[in-house]
Formats: sequence, C-alpha cells, structure tokens
Amino acid sequence: MTTRIDQFSPGAGDINAWIVGDDEEVIVIDPGPDAAGLLDAVGDREVLAVICTHGHADHIAAALQVAERDEAPVALHPKDRPLWREAHPGEEADIEMEDGGVFEVADVRLEVVYSPGHTPGSVCLYCEDLGAVFTGHVMLAEGPAPHDGEYPDYARQLNAIGEYLLTLPAETRVLPGHGPETTIATAEKKFDSWVAAGPNLGD
Ligand SMILES: [Zn+2]
Ligand SMILES: [Zn+2]
Repeated sequence: MTTRIDQFSPGAGDINAWIVGDDEEVIVIDPGPDAAGLLDAVGDREVLAVICTHGHADHIAAALQVAERDEAPVALHPKDRPLWREAHPGEEADIEMEDGGVFEVADVRLEVVYSPGHTPGSVCLYCEDLGAVFTGHVMLAEGPAPHDGEYPDYARQLNAIGEYLLTLPAETRVLPGHGPETTIATAEKKFDSWVAAGPNLGD
C-alpha cells in the first residue's frame, strides 16, 4: 500500500491539517488557514475533495481556496452550515456528509462517523485501511476539544467519544485537529477522568 497520511501544520495554534493519498491523488481533511502552504504540501497531486470535520473557522478558513485549484468539492455536515456561513458568507459546501458516508482516495476508504457535541455537525473520518481516525475537535490527545475555552455540549461530545470512537480497534491512531496524535487505547484509559472532570476540564 502506497497510500500515506501527511500532516501539515500552518504554524499557529498547533493546528493539524491532514493529507491522505498517494503520489497521484489526495483528500485534504481540515485545511486550516494557510491555502498556499497546504497546496505546497499537496504538490502536483490532484485534490479529490476537501473534508471539514466541523465548521469552526480555524479549520475551514482556506477550504474554498484549497478546493478551487483542482475544482474539488468541499464536504461538510449540514448541521454545521450556520458556522460555515460565518466563515464563508454567500458560499456553500458542495457535499453534505452523513453518518456512514464513504470517500475513496488512492486505495483506501474514509468513513464518515457523525459525532456531534463540539458542534451540531461534527464528524470524524475513520480509515480502517490505514488504522487511523481523524477526530477534528471531537477528541484531542488531552481530551474533548473546547471551543473558545468552553464546551458547547460536553455531555454529547463525551457520548460521541464513548459511543463512536472508543469502539474502534485499540491500536487505531487518533489524528486530531490540534496537537499530538494519540491512540484509541490511550484515550480509553483517560476517558473516565474526562467524565469525572466535566466541562471544567480545560481550566
Ligand atoms: Zn472547533
Ligand atoms: Zn481548532
């Protein structure tokens, strides 16, 4: 298998953009704010799609510019449309993701795992072929990701983690929207402490 996962960091805020593909074609997950830098990392490979795990501006700011180069579609869960419009007034995403939807790139599949809580339309992308799950802001290495220091719906976010992420194989790599990666096994060990800490986790 020649398909690989490249990480691109635009610098500020420990943001991770993820590029999944081979030497010919890629899918970009959460492009972040730096279109030129990201497209440099993509190089001359064709962008098949730009997938947004949710609608917060730090991750979708460059989505349209990145998609534009190869006329790729942008994918978003419809419940995050209001957030998307704050960042991109007058523009719409092209693909409405739904739970269980599948994207194909090179020789792997990315499955949409609807995981609301951080935002109403948060999703993760599970790639069984590469043993990885892209978790956006649903779950970082240190726990459920807050937004502006707060948790829009902590209980639902925890529920999504417990119900949809921790059921994946233990060795699965967790590739989040910020900071270092972790694994499902490690997250599983921390989960009870996240439940106990409640929404004040980030304090
Ligand atoms: Zn967010
Ligand atoms: Zn973020």
